[in-house]
Amino acid sequence: MKQSLLFVPTLKEAPKDAEVRSHKLMSRAGLVKQVAAGIYSYLPLGYRVIKKIENIIREELDKIGSSELLMPALQPRDLWEESGRWDKYGPELMRLTDRKDREFCLGPTHEEIITQVVRDYLNSYKKLPLALYQIQTKFRDEMRPRFGLMRGREFIMKDAYSFHETEAELDEWYKKFAQAYTTIFARCGLATRIVSSDVGQIGGNEADEFMVMSEVGEDTITYCMSCSYAANQEHSGLEEGDKCPVCGGTIKTAKGIEVGNIFKLGTKYSESMNAKVINKDGQQVPVVMGCYGIGISRTLMASVEQHSSDDGIVWPDEIAPFKVHLIPINYDNDVQKEVTDTLYQELIESGIEVLLDDRKERAGVKFKDADLIGLPFRVIIGKDASDGKVEFVDRKQGEKTVLPVAEVINNI
Ligand code: ATP
Ligand code: MG
Repeated sequence: MKQSLLFVPTLKEAPKDAEVRSHKLMSRAGLVKQVAAGIYSYLPLGYRVIKKIENIIREELDKIGSSELLMPALQPRDLWEESGRWDKYGPELMRLTDRKDREFCLGPTHEEIITQVVRDYLNSYKKLPLALYQIQTKFRDEMRPRFGLMRGREFIMKDAYSFHETEAELDEWYKKFAQAYTTIFARCGLATRIVSSDVGQIGGNEADEFMVMSEVGEDTITYCMSCSYAANQEHSGLEEGDKCPVCGGTIKTAKGIEVGNIFKLGTKYSESMNAKVINKDGQQVPVVMGCYGIGISRTLMASVEQHSSDDGIVWPDEIAPFKVHLIPINYDNDVQKEVTDTLYQELIESGIEVLLDDRKERAGVKFKDADLIGLPFRVIIGKDASDGKVEFVDRKQGEKTVLPVAEVINNI
């Protein structure tokens, strides 16, 4: 891709309301643009990363046997009456009325819709287990939208739902999802910690959250210094220095960003919304459900928060918008142009995603923007091009080397 044709509106200054580093950088690097409080446009560079995260999720969920569907954002009140959540959900639910005075909401989550999708189909235990997911825009009128994509009022989520005959089978799938989540976040460059949490608005019996440890996190995690016990403070009520409820060790606290959440719903929705199957003993029973969320836009934000300095982003390999940034110092110089264009073609032919800074800008401007955008590898084509040499920078290691141009692809 040629940078002159890509829309990357980089900024010298971050917007005034950007408090945390990731929010500042995502605005300055031209990844997102705010439309209103908690509502953002994803610009081409940011949207490339979103699509990479989505595809990692798709790969890992397909592996465990969960298949993708797409449900509507617009949801009729009737279904929310069936589950009893129309009254319970409160002002976070975005409600609206159509021209015939029928009431709807913009989905903050999709338990009602998924139950409506499967209930007529699910008649026998033979159709179970079943695990479905979607990647969709969610709406929540959050009291305090902030930190950019961290807490939006419109945001992208992956939500999955599983259906089972027994609690034991749900337990097995809950573990499968938990393992897939750890892999997904690791591939996005994030180490996560699983902590017990409250079931909250969604309801059910048991829940765990996937936390990225970070000073800018809105959650407080309590964890034991001696064993693997960890819980959200909202759930455990423990304080720093308390005794661990499992082993008696010492409890510590730390801040975390919740990037994912998994719930054992049990029969809360299948009972109220009448999703039943005939079990092996010939009895009609409500299906046992699980639900599993990942905040995709929040994951992007957490990844930038973890992988950046004040000068710019340092993308983890798998979600970088491009792998290589080619920067000719003077693209009007015939030799530099020739070396650049040849390398550009070779990278494309090798299947390596490359961004070529062909803009008519000074080298200093190009370098500043390249620092902000933070692609994993940078190749600078300057005076040495006449000797067939270029400067090669591995952004993560911060190492600069001068290489024969023929060795660039091997080094990537
Ligand atoms: P929180 O406690 O942060 O409000 P939640 O418990 O309401 O999160 P879930 O309903 O479980 O979140 O949603 C699944 C995932 O969606 C969360 O783990 C989080 O990553 C993401 N998410 C939730 N609310 C938002 C939001 N307002 N903006 C961006 N992502 C969000
Ligand atoms: Mg919430």
